[in-house]
Amino acid sequence: MASHDVLIVEDDPPTRVWLASAIERHRDLVLAGAVGSCREAREALERLEPAVLLTDLGLPDGSGIELIRWVRERGGRTQSMVITVFGDEPHVIAAIEAGALGYLLKDAMPDAIGRSILEMLAGGSPMSPPVARYLLKRFGQPASSGIESLPADAGASGGPALSEREREVLGYIVKGFTYVEIARIAGLSSHTVATYVRRVYGKLEVHSRGEAVYEAISMGLVRVDE
Ligand code: CA
Repeated sequence: MASHDVLIVEDDPPTRVWLASAIERHRDLVLAGAVGSCREAREALERLEPAVLLTDLGLPDGSGIELIRWVRERGGRTQSMVITVFGDEPHVIAAIEAGALGYLLKDAMPDAIGRSILEMLAGGSPMSPPVARYLLKRFGQPASSGIESLPADAGASGGPALSEREREVLGYIVKGFTYVEIARIAGLSSHTVATYVRRVYGKLEVHSRGEAVYEAISMGLVRVDE
């Protein structure tokens, strides 16, 4: 598999080193650079045009959200992912509106960071599970504590016909699980999970996890219970 280059923007030196090692240890990823400010990041993004921008939000001379917006407005190939301690809703929404395609919290394991970057490059929108939960709140579901897939015959409001397995996998997608986690929970191979996800995305006519979550909730394909 081709290697994908990643630019890290993180102002805390120990965290920057830790993130760099998480990238370097992944065989499909290459570290393009690691910088600590918005100014350095813009310079590096223009010079390197990396496949991935992995950025912190709180930076000494601005916000990672400004960088993400700047990257999108430039219209290059770079895809942006947030890695931050901020899991609160305003930060999540602002980053996604600016163009972030993934959103990880800093308690993510190094292996999960590499895996999430590859998932984003493959067309997904990886999010830490608490972040997926914040997004659900955005759809007006009050203080929900659990999400259950509806049975296949539950007569969802005009949504596409999904098999029981497809619905189950969609439920896990909405909860923010990775393909590997879904495979483990559902007793399927990762390959099979990827096939189900592709089929579900096709039926929902979506291209990312964020869109899938939105459609799943708005079509009533999954239910958010108290
Ligand atoms: Ca910071």
